[in-house]
Amino acid sequence: MTTWHILGVGSLGTLWATRLARAGLPVRLLLRDASSLTRYRAGGGLSLVENGQSSLYPIAAETAQASTPIKRLLLACKAYDAEEAAASLAPRLTPGAEIILLQNGLGSQQAVAEHLPKASYIFASSTEGAFRDGAFRVVFAGQGHTWLGQPGQTQAPGWLEELARAGIPHQWTADILGKLWRKLALNCSINPLTVLHGCRNGGLRDFPEAVATLCAELAQLLHRVGQAEAAEGLHEQVLQVIEATAANYSSMYQDVAAGRRTEIDYLLGHACREADRLALNLPHLSDLQRRLQAELQARGLPLN
Ligand code: NAP
Repeated sequence: MTTWHILGVGSLGTLWATRLARAGLPVRLLLRDASSLTRYRAGGGLSLVENGQSSLYPIAAETAQASTPIKRLLLACKAYDAEEAAASLAPRLTPGAEIILLQNGLGSQQAVAEHLPKASYIFASSTEGAFRDGAFRVVFAGQGHTWLGQPGQTQAPGWLEELARAGIPHQWTADILGKLWRKLALNCSINPLTVLHGCRNGGLRDFPEAVATLCAELAQLLHRVGQAEAAEGLHEQVLQVIEATAANYSSMYQDVAAGRRTEIDYLLGHACREADRLALNLPHLSDLQRRLQAELQARGLPLN
């Protein structure tokens, strides 16, 4: 049975690792360095909190610098860490290694694939929700599901059946790029505005024109990048998300409020770069990026 190596033992990495391990599948965690491994071992494993109940999973772990070969990798770090993390594992990956990329947004997948061209990639887009509330301890906060796919590939590889065994809700799609673009567009229409207005998602009901204009520009971009389907009904869905999540703070709002680096470069940044590349003038989108970067700068956070 192929071992699941998991790099990125944060929120999503823990959510996947614990469910795979409790289904009896072989899992090994790849920790950043020796001191992180020592801290992990001292705690006895990964804790997952579900419905207020915490369970400890003593999953095997090693550092990313170990030398045993890796045939299957789940890359579960943030988008801005993915390229470097993947490069650090290059000497350990077997030819044709299977890599699932869990990063939100677009751009990091391509950067990873350029570094490791011999691997076989599956891109993922997840609506599951989890957060860390202690060292190696994660709370499963929101049920959701994960789209998985290789662009244009209609058939899922047989080994993905292990996810069903582990109770990880997922579905294969040949149009994973469309899913990632749609999620990116939803994010760009909501998250930056919640940061700039300092509000919950529902606060955007007060800015209907700003939301509508952004959706129109993003729809133009989606058409130009060949993702016309991802543009369909975008504005309607954005309004639905604002209603359905009115009481929530967006992930970008939460990152900024907590002084954490955002994934802006792989969301709004990617959209603006693509528009530039296509010489497409999207004034509201680029103004949004300028204002968001000014806000990040004022808070001493990275602009990318
Ligand atoms: P996270 O909680 O910050 O976890 C990322 C983990 O990766 C951290 O433990 C980090 O370690 C580790 N890491 C980074 N570089 C590493 C390296 N070179 N070697 C070893 N470990 C490394 O992030 P997350 O919330 O799980 O997010 C992962 C991705 O999933 C993001 O793109 C996010 O947008 C997406 N996503 C998340 C959720 C969610 O609910 N959390 C939902 C949908 C999508 P350190 O702590 O030491 O930096």
